[in-house]
Amino acid sequence: MFSEELKKYDWDETTRFIQSRTAAHVESALRKQHLSVEDFMALISPAAEPYLEQMAQLSHRYTMERFGKTISLYIPLYVSNACTNSCVYCGFNHNNPLERVTLTLDQVKAECEAIRRLGPFENLLIVSGEFPALNGVDYLEKVLNVARPYFNNLTIEVMPMKTESYARLVESGLNGVVCFQETYNAANYKTYHPKGMKSIFDWRVNGFDRMGQAGVHKIGMGVLIGLEDWRTDLAMLARHLRYLRKNYWRTRYSVNFPRMCPAEGGYQPKVVMSDRELAQV
Ligand code: SF4
Repeated sequence: MFSEELKKYDWDETTRFIQSRTAAHVESALRKQHLSVEDFMALISPAAEPYLEQMAQLSHRYTMERFGKTISLYIPLYVSNACTNSCVYCGFNHNNPLERVTLTLDQVKAECEAIRRLGPFENLLIVSGEFPALNGVDYLEKVLNVARPYFNNLTIEVMPMKTESYARLVESGLNGVVCFQETYNAANYKTYHPKGMKSIFDWRVNGFDRMGQAGVHKIGMGVLIGLEDWRTDLAMLARHLRYLRKNYWRTRYSVNFPRMCPAEGGYQPKVVMSDRELAQV
């Protein structure tokens, strides 16, 4: 399980390593065909900032070689905002006194029909809070069965589950799972996720192993940029991705970069990432 692997890496040491990268490390990484995680750390370090244009051109070249001029669109369907967790940055936080809605299966069907009327969307992302009694695996299995005739590709972004629950959903037509670790800083994780199942760091970080073991075809990963030093978090994410690709090599992976920005009256990120830094990543 990745929680064991993660113990090999010290957060502060990783931060210092990234900050100590120099132009020579960056140039060496830019010359390579196959990069190590250490090379990746050089490319996201402050030392790589002057190389943004060169990295953008390389990135464009790789994108064209691998994907061509393709853009894949997905459409989210929020099926439930009921949640037992209290993530401090989220409006669906259990402590917020807002109306909670979990769609009935007839409502899910009506939403699927409405989405199909909008255009040729084939990738549906089913999103829900974490309230096992209301939107747990039994409910999600029924939702997948309702949505399956309308879409080629069904992905969920819901609570982490047991291996057998993922396997059950794969049987019901699930293609992918998106889950954000939010941060790999285990020491501070609980200050952002004080209650509920999401407060258990190992349960969340090992969810990706459980997805791999269940044969989930595609896994989407990410950290929530704004919580902790984003460079260190992304280095940990890169290590996690390397680990998963080695152990669950049949699965395909994608990485997302959700970024919190300062907002009046809302949750204030501890770390602000600029547009240039986002482009660098
Ligand atoms: S688990 Fe998800 S929906 Fe629930 S409070 Fe946390 S971020 Fe919000």
